[in-house]
Amino acid sequence: MGSRRAVVIGGGISGVLVARELLLAGWQVTLLEAAHIGAGSSSRTAAGIRQQFSTEETVRGMRYSVDFYRHFAAEVGEVVLQQNGYLFLYQDQSSWESAISRVKLQKAAGLSEVVALENSALRAQFPWVSEAIVGGTFCPTDGFLFPALVYGEGARRVRELGGQILQSAPVTSAVHQSDRIVSVSTPKGRFEADLFLDCTNAWSPRTAKVLGGTELPISPFKRYLWFIERDGPIDRETFAKMPLIVSPSGVYCRPENANSLMMGWAHEATSEPDFSYDDQDTIAPGFAHNSGTDAMPFQAWMNMAETVPGIGEFAGVTATTSGYYGTTPDHNPFLGFDPRQRNLVRLVGFSGHGAMFGPFTALIARRLAEAGTDLTSVDVDGTPVRMDAFRIGREFSHAEAMVI
Ligand SMILES: Cc1cc2nc3c(=O)[nH]c(=O)nc-3n(C[C@H](O)[C@H](O)[C@H](O)COP(=O)(O)OP(=O)(O)OC[C@H]3O[C@@H](n4cnc5c(N)ncnc54)[C@H](O)[C@@H]3O)c2cc1C
Repeated sequence: MGSRRAVVIGGGISGVLVARELLLAGWQVTLLEAAHIGAGSSSRTAAGIRQQFSTEETVRGMRYSVDFYRHFAAEVGEVVLQQNGYLFLYQDQSSWESAISRVKLQKAAGLSEVVALENSALRAQFPWVSEAIVGGTFCPTDGFLFPALVYGEGARRVRELGGQILQSAPVTSAVHQSDRIVSVSTPKGRFEADLFLDCTNAWSPRTAKVLGGTELPISPFKRYLWFIERDGPIDRETFAKMPLIVSPSGVYCRPENANSLMMGWAHEATSEPDFSYDDQDTIAPGFAHNSGTDAMPFQAWMNMAETVPGIGEFAGVTATTSGYYGTTPDHNPFLGFDPRQRNLVRLVGFSGHGAMFGPFTALIARRLAEAGTDLTSVDVDGTPVRMDAFRIGREFSHAEAMVI
């Protein structure tokens, strides 16, 4: 490709990191964001980052992401990652045995530091875990991100590297020539490019219509986070070091700051393909922190208290936030060229792990941009990582098991 002009559509964590990566590879980049940087899920995320997955390619990819985020501090002057670890807990023997075999897969994929801890070893390291728990898997290099710093500092870097960012610039139409996009239009003007990258995640089915792209199965599902005030026997120092904990029934929590615990729990939800920006923050009846003891937040809190009894002594649920997952049938994203538009790359469908995927997504975008076509594998720190799990048009035969 002689000319190297790229338009990135969407200014969340994915779009910002993709723009930065392409600029470093020598592309001229314009990022078009419909509202403002961070207007989507990237500002509503739990921002956990883990390498404990059941898809080998994702384990390798998230190893790259952890390393990227650790070094990003030197580039932007802000620490964006807190490595408190991730602790998955199990209460019945058969799910514990499955967890032990996943740890073997993860170790084989290079995650040497993950450990499977049986009851007594688990309680020696984490004395606050209930005796009813049969075991847990722990990876100390997992943790959580400060998402506003990721997209905020990322956007600053994009500008510093010579990229153009336009906010309040929704892409509303596209001009095509045979099976290529020539330009896209926004209220702020028309933008020609050689390559277009869709980073609109939960909006992507709508973006595809505008761009003449393939309709991908991505469902926007509402997800909530609740915040609980620390109190009782878990002191400030213990609390600050707590990992992201996932209970046997999938409730997860982590320290948000010195005195507040963030907690989430997936629920049965229906797809909301036409959600509005305001809908992101709409809290349905039964999901607000002040909805009483039958409501989901109280139930989640009590469930977590069975796993970590000290959390049951906390002072109460004080706030609720929400946003959308862009969920795919197998919970893996689509990372590849759109079969209908030869110069359109889709980087969407992150299904609850797009914040952690950001650096890996950006690396794949760069490799695809350089190749101009889909790749069977990408080189990640000298190791080829196969792209099958993320290919557009794949059969959804292997679903990611580690979904929260
Ligand atoms: C409650 C909750 C908890 C989560 N927990 C985690 C977690 O622990 N770890 C993790 O990794 N992930 C988590 N996620 C998922 C993660 O937040 C998302 O996958 C990630 O933020 C997606 O980033 P993105 O940049 O791809 O999309 P977004 O941040 O949603 O950005 C998409 C952008 O596209 C813009 N846009 C839309 N249409 C157009 C258009 N036509 N033209 C131009 N711009 C457009 C939007 O305005 C938006 O800013 C969670 C999400 C939620 C809601």
